[in-house]
Amino acid sequence: MPNLELLQKNLESCGYAVTRFATGKQAADYLNAQLDGTTVAFGGSTTLADLGLYESLSTHNTVFWHWKGNAPADATNAEIYISSVNGVAETGELINIDGVCNRVSETLFGHKKVYFVVGANKVAPDYDAALYRARNVAAPLNARRLNKNTPCAQGELRCYNCNSPERICNALTVLWRKPGGASYEVILVDEALGY
Ligand code: SF4
Repeated sequence: MPNLELLQKNLESCGYAVTRFATGKQAADYLNAQLDGTTVAFGGSTTLADLGLYESLSTHNTVFWHWKGNAPADATNAEIYISSVNGVAETGELINIDGVCNRVSETLFGHKKVYFVVGANKVAPDYDAALYRARNVAAPLNARRLNKNTPCAQGELRCYNCNSPERICNALTVLWRKPGGASYEVILVDEALGY
């Protein structure tokens, strides 16, 4: 079982606000209470899709999501950016892998506030294990979701560090601590969400 108490403590010491919920529904209700009348952009994320956040936040905010027909560049001017992560270490490192790289770019700079919504299934005990998870679990599952012609989508569930034209892993970001240009909040959920 992941040690979410330790993770929260370490994330807070890295400069993040951290809010923890037992269920994804509670997390979605919290975000709907926090965000009203603002502009919000989403990164590609099955976690956010699982929570129905686009639908609920769109009733009282302007929401941009390339999964719903917006261009990735439409996210650039939103006040708020919401993403998940592909892996997080109990020691506090937040890891994401991207192909187009709009998601990792938007999480680094340019918004007033960034939220990371993180299910307990994303948590690993240390940096190496979180990196392994991001590369060998999250990325291959995303390749399968996207029906990519990559070895990880066809065979055993692991990364083959492929040279496929359809490779979805072109950049890796590791947030060692909270980036300096915005507020950041990590929303930890004590249940599995997304990949
Ligand atoms: S590098 Fe290639 S094999 Fe590895 S996870 Fe990404 S797409 Fe799959």
